[in-house]
Amino acid sequence: VCPTAALTEVNHTGKVWAALNDPDKYVVVQTAPAVRVAVGELFGMEPGSIATGKMVTALRRMGFNAVFDTDFAADLTILEEASELVHRIQHHGRLPMLTSCCPAWVKFFEHQFPDLLDIPSSCKSPQIMFGTIAKTYYAEKLGIDPAKMVVVSVMPCVAKKAEAARPELTKEEHSNVDLVLTTREFGLMLKEAGIDFMNLPESDFDKMMGESTGASIIFGTTGGVIEAAVRTAYEWITGEELENVEFTAMRGVQGIREATVKVGDLELKIGIAHELGNARKLLEDIRAGKSQFHAIEIMACPGGCIGGGGQPYHHGDIEIIKKRQEAIYAEDRNKVKRKSHQNEEVLRLYKEYLGEPYGEKAHDLLHTYYEAKEKI
Ligand code: SF4
Repeated sequence: VCPTAALTEVNHTGKVWAALNDPDKYVVVQTAPAVRVAVGELFGMEPGSIATGKMVTALRRMGFNAVFDTDFAADLTILEEASELVHRIQHHGRLPMLTSCCPAWVKFFEHQFPDLLDIPSSCKSPQIMFGTIAKTYYAEKLGIDPAKMVVVSVMPCVAKKAEAARPELTKEEHSNVDLVLTTREFGLMLKEAGIDFMNLPESDFDKMMGESTGASIIFGTTGGVIEAAVRTAYEWITGEELENVEFTAMRGVQGIREATVKVGDLELKIGIAHELGNARKLLEDIRAGKSQFHAIEIMACPGGCIGGGGQPYHHGDIEIIKKRQEAIYAEDRNKVKRKSHQNEEVLRLYKEYLGEPYGEKAHDLLHTYYEAKEKI
């Protein structure tokens, strides 16, 4: 069951088929990092199989006008989030900074820790950043009316449906994601369309919002977001190249993990929790003034998004989650570029449209706010 209020899976498959069959619509799709290491299980592949190329081909055969990667937006998120972390460290801002890309976690702290609304990063999640950039920068570049664009997400997550409907993320000027499919719904649609997934050739994501680094891929597992942020923050703070990008102390499946990274003169202290019971312990420490961390990553699902509520059922089998996690790290190792600030398409986006990371326009388009909600 998804650890959020979105306990009922709202089925968007019919609406996605309708958009794909509407000649007036330009339909783009993004796929989250965790989907590619699990979708194959719906077609008989072993857990931990990487099906990125087949997944992209399958989406094209379904009729999407452009097939993009949420990983592109994950790299974009890191440029904003690492900037925010460096800013908070160097300007005595509120610490620890908590990651904000898991909507179940966001909903949890809005209800349970309304006194700590200033600790999460103000960054929108990669899913929402993608939708915002698709309907502004990409639409502008291609001369497409954003009103005719439909942005579809394929996510490992049921809570991403609720996130896409949050009022502050659906204002017209920040319009974002229209429809969200879970990994399971995506598999169902492929079966409905009679697409023979196992025998598909492989293909690549489309350009402009399709490039990704290894840093963005590890968003799919617990510890990955903060590891990606540290890869970039390290180089920005020290001005030196980070040679070993693998922070093994941040990895694994233990509920709470800690790591200390020497960043120049700074001993950067990182906390990581997955599953909300573990998150609560770290939050209680912050509330009590006992937390020593500079940054904390929290993900609601076991193992992070690889164990998400929209994935092929794992029934709590930790071995399946570990195999998906190994696949995520293998995808990272397969990349030549493994730091988000090396993503050329993201750098072009800043140069041609956003300006500086964490600058005024980036802040306007890529950041959000949180509200205290009634305790439930
Ligand atoms: Fe969704 Fe990932 Fe959060 Fe689970 S951990 S609720 S899959 S964003």
